[in-house]
Amino acid sequence: MRSRDASGGAGTSSARQQHYGQVFDAIPDSLFVVDIRGKVLDVNPAACRAHGYSRHELTGLNVRRVIHPGYHPRFEESCRKIGGQGVFCAQMVDLRKDGSTFDAEMIGRAIPARGKTPWLAIVRDVTQRNRTEERLRRIEAQLARLSRVAATGEMAAAVAHEVNQPICSIINYAKACRNALAAEGTCQLDDLRQWNEGIVASAAQACEVITRLSDMVGKTGPGRTSSSINQIVEESVHLLACEARQHQVAVTLKLADSLPAVHVDRIQIQQVLVNLLRNAYQAMANHLCKPRLVTVGTARIGTCIEVTVSDCGPGLPPTFDDDLSLFDTFVTTKPDGLGLGLAISATIIRAHDGRLWATANPDGGAAFHFTLPGENGGRSNGY
Ligand code: ADP
Repeated sequence: MRSRDASGGAGTSSARQQHYGQVFDAIPDSLFVVDIRGKVLDVNPAACRAHGYSRHELTGLNVRRVIHPGYHPRFEESCRKIGGQGVFCAQMVDLRKDGSTFDAEMIGRAIPARGKTPWLAIVRDVTQRNRTEERLRRIEAQLARLSRVAATGEMAAAVAHEVNQPICSIINYAKACRNALAAEGTCQLDDLRQWNEGIVASAAQACEVITRLSDMVGKTGPGRTSSSINQIVEESVHLLACEARQHQVAVTLKLADSLPAVHVDRIQIQQVLVNLLRNAYQAMANHLCKPRLVTVGTARIGTCIEVTVSDCGPGLPPTFDDDLSLFDTFVTTKPDGLGLGLAISATIIRAHDGRLWATANPDGGAAFHFTLPGENGGRSNGY
């Protein structure tokens, strides 16, 4: 006798079995039913296609045979974690019969009620997805670097101005030395020493400005390191000292004490701060506000650190009601703007598990804020 189940389908157990068998075979992801030791009890056609085996060959094999040996520890760990129940999801590399490999995402699902078939493994080939993500990461890094180069190009005029002064000093000290040496006999050794010191100090000053600039264009930093956010803020402000002077902007730092360290790519966070500071300087340069003040603050908010760059310029453009649109690529109100700075900054901060947003200052001007997670759950490192 046939009964109807809730879905209206045939309800006899053999009909259901046949139905589930068809579903099992039709699923496009690889399915492995394995016992507690990992012995394969059943597979679907997708698993055979993906791994290059026949159903007959796979049945009875240990499932570890289709996992690259380098990923066995991860597999064991995942199995241990779920024990006889629960679900795991692990990124692995799977082996085909011919020895070739593919990136695989494995979802293991324990079926404790089934006695001899304790779990089901669903394997998806994610090679293409991983490649696309990797390409996207590379493009983002290249875009970030391009934007750094563009910003550096714009900073070059201010830097040239700044380097000009120590170079003029070097020339003057050197001329004084030459004249003193030419007037043999009357030459004071103390004067020569003092002028020589002047040459060394001025050259060091010029060198420092240039080194900072070339650091910023550098392709990559040393990667993520444990860093002090206050130090990165100070370095960034220093980096833009020439432009601040040119635009007659005074920068006030309100840096909190005893902040936790942040695990960041210093060059990238510096790039974010440089973008925000330059935007603030430029906004005020075209605005009648005196004094031109930018405040950079750091604060601990729970387990995170919040950095705020606040100015007293014209405020956010009125056309941007929704803050988000400011962070879209190629959105700019500047005649020669690229509209990339905020978009790239937001990407960098997101990649660091933080958030970047803008607010209007109550007494005029704009404020840009970003958060970064503190290291060790936000415990203080004394920075
Ligand atoms: P760009 O600087 O090339 O325009 P950004 O992405 O850095 O690109 O900035 C996008 C736009 O956001 C700017 O053109 C400007 O309209 C606005 N903006 C950014 N920072 C500020 C600020 N501090 N005050 C006012 N408007 C700002």
